[in-house]
Amino acid sequence: MKSVQIKNSINKRVGVSSDPVPTWLACTWLRTPCGKKSCAVCGVLADERVRLMTQGMHEEEMLDILDDLRESVADAFLLLADKIDLKRSSNRIYSTRSPHRFSIFRLLDSWHELLHDIFDEAEINASWWLESSDAADADWYTHVLLEYLYRLLSYRCSSKFSVRSKPTFGNIYAQSVVITASEIVAKCLHSLALLDSSEKGSLLRMSGRFDELHSKLLLL
Ligand SMILES: [Zn+2]
Repeated sequence: MKSVQIKNSINKRVGVSSDPVPTWLACTWLRTPCGKKSCAVCGVLADERVRLMTQGMHEEEMLDILDDLRESVADAFLLLADKIDLKRSSNRIYSTRSPHRFSIFRLLDSWHELLHDIFDEAEINASWWLESSDAADADWYTHVLLEYLYRLLSYRCSSKFSVRSKPTFGNIYAQSVVITASEIVAKCLHSLALLDSSEKGSLLRMSGRFDELHSKLLLL
């Protein structure tokens, strides 16, 4: 689906200016979105799923397409909200420069790679915790965290951003998702590290390292 269709669909379902933080926006990044047909995000996803099914696509093949669509809905809404907020032109509100220039992003990215190494190790050892909702949440919300930290840092390194200027809606929203996702990841790692598993030592170290990252993220 093209971004203009997504924007039209969002505008049709909810008046952007009527509520600065529509609850459905969270359905663009929650591991388990609400799934209601009346939801501005889940409704679009359900329509797209039907369209893909009529093309003969299997459920597993759709996952990446539907995740990309969720991300596009968030992008479209945040850009639209910021334009209304700041009465700006059609320019992008945030920079496209790499967030890897920020040490916090590099640290989180390295931590994320180590987490996947532990997941791979657990798969080889057939560790049961890999099937737990804490493991699924830790993985999912680390990806959300990286995505929204990218957005937040991109806003911050935009030439339009100044410490004296009023933060845009997108900036505030990205920060709130970063904090929320970081809290979820910290909690899941604490729980996983408490379990009696072959990877207990690695999970304890990962949990401790994440707690340090979490404190830094709260200061952003
Ligand atoms: Zn929803």
